[in-house]
Amino acid sequence: MKAAAFDYVRPETLGQALHILSERGDGARILAGGQSLAPALNLRLAMPEVLVDINGLEELRFIAASDDVLRLGALTRHVDLARSEEIAHRCPLLSRAAAQIAHPAIRHRGTLGGSLAQADPAAELPACALALDAVIVASSSGGERRIAARDFFLGLYQTALRPDEVLTSVEISGLSADRIYGFAKLARRQGDFAIIGLALAARRSGRGLVDLRLAFFGVADRPMLAVRAAAALEGKPDATQSMREARAALQADLNPVSDLHASAAMRLHLAGVLLERVLAETLEPLR
Ligand SMILES: Cc1cc2nc3c(=O)[nH]c(=O)nc-3n(C[C@H](O)[C@H](O)[C@H](O)COP(=O)(O)OP(=O)(O)OC[C@H]3O[C@@H](n4cnc5c(N)ncnc54)[C@H](O)[C@@H]3O)c2cc1C
Repeated sequence: MKAAAFDYVRPETLGQALHILSERGDGARILAGGQSLAPALNLRLAMPEVLVDINGLEELRFIAASDDVLRLGALTRHVDLARSEEIAHRCPLLSRAAAQIAHPAIRHRGTLGGSLAQADPAAELPACALALDAVIVASSSGGERRIAARDFFLGLYQTALRPDEVLTSVEISGLSADRIYGFAKLARRQGDFAIIGLALAARRSGRGLVDLRLAFFGVADRPMLAVRAAAALEGKPDATQSMREARAALQADLNPVSDLHASAAMRLHLAGVLLERVLAETLEPLR
């Protein structure tokens, strides 16, 4: 199948892009890496009147670190996240997660902003944003909005973004030296979307973890924070007993979906397996 006809514009500034979006309303669609949008166009799942190609907006392509805050422009490609020394140093969770997205060709085009705006429930970066308690910055001709990741993902491919808004950047704060991360993804083949995955962010405290955030992806219609499981594990260096409690708590935290790839029961089991695996790997350097 071929895409339906559409107009194409390539603004040179964010201001121009916002102006077009405010004029064309629901009929406009932003084009970033095109790795999700192009297939949707070709399958006619998306039939916008006009594509607003933001790839010329250099102001959206940056990785900036100051004190304990990392700011990432929406046009940061997956490959930039995977290869940046600054990110490997400040927030290695993002380096690890980005390296697991799809295949090299897709990582060279796909963008952070596109992945968050697409809100695929099996995608790595939305779960990382949730684990990192990131703030998503969106601009429209009316001004700027800052949206906490926990309020951003509303359902299957649904976000808090309005049609006249451009996701411009992502801010991650609290990147102190005691931060610690874990990540794992289960997929049928390398490069496939996850059957289930887990992004973990916490702070070290003695031999245990505090401020623990466990963001699962591939389990439900959006990335999910397992808050009860995290509470069972917080600050407990001996994970054996608390792990039993945490695995039990996952039942209440997650409401897994069944699909062609795995049943809900299988997903719940795998969530427990990933939790144990990621936690063991994360705690290992503290022993
Ligand atoms: C074969 C294949 C395998 C893949 N496997 C994975 C995987 O394992 N894990 C994974 O996470 N992803 C995977 N992807 C998706 C890939 O990561 C995409 O890059 C990503 O989902 C979308 O990013 P993009 O920049 O390509 O966005 P686009 O495709 O250009 O846009 C996606 C959507 O977001 C909107 N949008 C884009 N940028 C903005 C913005 N700045 N502000 C507001 N709205 C915006 C668009 O209008 C569109 O609705 C895969 C893709 C393919 C084709």
